[in-house]
Amino acid sequence: MQKLNMFINGEWVEAQSGKTRSIVNPANGKIIAEAAEGDIEDARIAIDVARHAFDSGIWSDIPAAERASYLFKIADKLEERAEELSKLETEDNGKPLRETEYDVADAAACFRYYAGLVTKPDGQTYHVGDPMQAMVIREPVGVCGLIVPWNYPLLMGVWKIAPALAAGNTIVFKPSEVTPVTSIKLFEIIQEVGIPAGVANMVMGSGATVGNEIAESQKVDKISFTGGTATGRSIMKAAAGNIKKISLELGGKSPNIVFADADFETAVDYALFGIFSNAGQVCSAGSRLLLEESIHDKFIESLVERAKKIRVGAGDDPNTEMGSLVSVQHLEKVLSYIQIGIDEGATLACGGNRITSNGLGNGYFVEPTIFVDTKPEMRIVQEEIFGPVLVVQKFKDEKEAIELANNTAYGLAAGVFTQDGAKALRVIKKIRAGITWINTYHPTYNEAPWGGYKQSGIGRGLGTFGFDEFTEVKQVNINLQVEPSGWFKK
Ligand code: NAD
Repeated sequence: MQKLNMFINGEWVEAQSGKTRSIVNPANGKIIAEAAEGDIEDARIAIDVARHAFDSGIWSDIPAAERASYLFKIADKLEERAEELSKLETEDNGKPLRETEYDVADAAACFRYYAGLVTKPDGQTYHVGDPMQAMVIREPVGVCGLIVPWNYPLLMGVWKIAPALAAGNTIVFKPSEVTPVTSIKLFEIIQEVGIPAGVANMVMGSGATVGNEIAESQKVDKISFTGGTATGRSIMKAAAGNIKKISLELGGKSPNIVFADADFETAVDYALFGIFSNAGQVCSAGSRLLLEESIHDKFIESLVERAKKIRVGAGDDPNTEMGSLVSVQHLEKVLSYIQIGIDEGATLACGGNRITSNGLGNGYFVEPTIFVDTKPEMRIVQEEIFGPVLVVQKFKDEKEAIELANNTAYGLAAGVFTQDGAKALRVIKKIRAGITWINTYHPTYNEAPWGGYKQSGIGRGLGTFGFDEFTEVKQVNINLQVEPSGWFKK
């Protein structure tokens, strides 16, 4: 059995307690590895190491170009090991290989993007009046706690690790306890390229212990978290003790709005992609489909026909289009939401069941599911299900589409399909969401900021915005005429 250890101070270590956790392949329920199960003590050791490394200047004081060279090497090695990494990710998470291959390529590109960015000009100067020169410089925040979920295990980590390291911070990283496998490989690469010991540390374990300790610690300067909104709230509270800087990328219930004048086939295609890619386990999933009344029935007919054809199966089967859910606990959560929808009086247009046929009985597979006849106040409309479950809402005009779209606590993403360019932008500008698409759904770029309005988060990942989150801004005022001010008489 593969044994996965934590990476602290440049060494691979077991948990202080010696405890481990079984890691399961969700496509067949088989145990694939035993991972060290860290606890508060392990988190504290890693935090102390990262604190010491930061305060020593071993990483922040080296030239940006040198830090960049490490990140470029990481990108190269991710690409060299892409086949191995995507297979492992599929085995650990359940998503199809074609998705994990994309994720690994994207992870390499993210390291390259931040390696390039860190050597580019930054800072500002201000004309504040003679004889003073004012300027702004950016510095690393310090020790950063990075906590990520299981839906893109490698990529979510990289979105934080790459900018945090590029900016000169030291890190304590915690992968999801459900999917640590590819994070281990990433830290093997970090070790191989020679990033100094103590700069990048990884602790495994539960959120309530290890995660909470990172969020609470007085020695951590910043917490960057991706995960559920309830967890984000708890992290905010834990982080208040030493007024940590916080970035939160949280959940969503994103509207995908289709007007009657949209290109029909394109809109159907992206409605499917918006909710069923990664089996709906995507924070920005288009989990609410808002259809203009006049096309509702025709659209649903076509959507259901296509949804029923989606090939669900093990991620390592090349024919698979949609994989399993990540764990048995998550399977139960998704199935319970389907039951809630039925109990609330919504109509199942297709799906609704666990799949146990075709040799999938030991895995955690759910049929692509579509609910129609929904009401805005239903729980399945308001709450994040995070599975292959689409809820459909009907609207009669632009005004109602906007009202329905904004009518949840979330504000992560939104899509609009119409051939009327002015209408598309008009609607997008009224939607309270941080990531939006017109006539497409889901494309995500390392260059562009990622994050949400309302209860979908605070701050932005990716792009220059994501880099700024890992820096402090310092104003420097230089007196060009060095003489006493004379404010107080001698
Ligand atoms: P989760 O909130 O349960 O866990 C996320 C991470 O936080 C895990 O590593 C977990 O161990 C840790 N954690 C749990 N409780 C903690 C606590 N009290 N203190 C500190 N850390 C704690 O989320 P999940 O189930 O792993 O992932 C699914 C959620 O993530 C969904 O809500 C999804 O929308 C969200 N997500 C958001 C984005 C985004 O960019 N906005 C991206 C991916 C996933």
